[in-house]
Amino acid sequence: MPGFYLHVPFCARKCPYCDFYSRPAGPALMDGYTDRAIAAMAPWAGLSVDTVYFGGGTPSLLGAERLGRLLGAIKERFSLSPGAEVTLEANPAGIEEDFFPQLRRAGFNRLSLGLQSSDPAELRFLGRAHSPQDAARAVGLAQKAGFSNISLDLMLGLPGGTKEKLGRSIAFAAGLSAAHISAYILKVEPGTPFSEQGVSLPDDDETAGQYLFAVEELARRGFPQYEISNFARPGFESRHNLVYWQGKEYLGIGPGAHSFLGGRRFYFPRDLEGFLQGAAPLDDGPGGSIEEFAMLNLRLARGLLLSDCEGKFGPAGAAAFSRIQQNARACPPHLLRQEPERLSFTPEGFLVSNALLVKVLEGL
Ligand code: SF4
Repeated sequence: MPGFYLHVPFCARKCPYCDFYSRPAGPALMDGYTDRAIAAMAPWAGLSVDTVYFGGGTPSLLGAERLGRLLGAIKERFSLSPGAEVTLEANPAGIEEDFFPQLRRAGFNRLSLGLQSSDPAELRFLGRAHSPQDAARAVGLAQKAGFSNISLDLMLGLPGGTKEKLGRSIAFAAGLSAAHISAYILKVEPGTPFSEQGVSLPDDDETAGQYLFAVEELARRGFPQYEISNFARPGFESRHNLVYWQGKEYLGIGPGAHSFLGGRRFYFPRDLEGFLQGAAPLDDGPGGSIEEFAMLNLRLARGLLLSDCEGKFGPAGAAAFSRIQQNARACPPHLLRQEPERLSFTPEGFLVSNALLVKVLEGL
């Protein structure tokens, strides 16, 4: 069953490393966006969806009333399966006491909070408005409101970062009883303030060391890795993100949101004004090739399965799987695990996954 993604393009201020599409907004713009996002759902009315994800940007900036209206409209227009996963990305800074109870009542059942680090100096470097205490307070308020499925984001590979600091951030996140942790490697994206300031990152060996440490440390604390950057207590893997990684279909609404539905890819451009004026999404060609399916599944720790390739593509899927296995034999064995009916990358393999993918998908 498809997933539904809503892109909320607003942030109180821009973090200097971020290249997601977002900008500051006042109440009138947020009202206009809410109305337009609801109207933009109309062409797909009746679609059955199993996961809903409000991402951004900072969706929590919309406030409980607009968020409730948006989720209400989604429930009205689409057929939301019972027990659907409904996630909201939220900023831990300045959460009001009644915010999370209102979200629970509206039907949200999962939160993703941008903790990033438990080190105040690292948070300042990242331009984040919250302190570690703000994050702990936000998680506590969410749990009090009944949210047990909470994901925290961490960042590694920061200038001056060490395994010790990272270990403390992991312990902090685990100590807050998170169910899921995402750990991303900081990158300096072109056009961001970090890029203009010439921020220099630790060398590849240091970052790789931190990544491999995080994989081990998170597993030790009960969060086995299930995707390149994602770790969860068993049963708390993000169902919405698994929709993407398992090559399933999804509908995305909002400026910058991408969709894969009915075998076609399409997207709303990163243009809030155009979106507000009712611009239709742009076609991005066909999707769902075996190559794409393999590439996405190889992001997962469980890897690519022969049974999935066969189930989705029939004999052509089995043939592609065997070609991939043949290509994989030429790759260094510490980077991937080859079993007769499964191929998966090791954590060392994930660190060089782009180069590995080029090799294993050759000739498809
Ligand atoms: S809050 Fe998140 S989306 Fe917004 S600027 Fe910072 S990193 Fe980007």
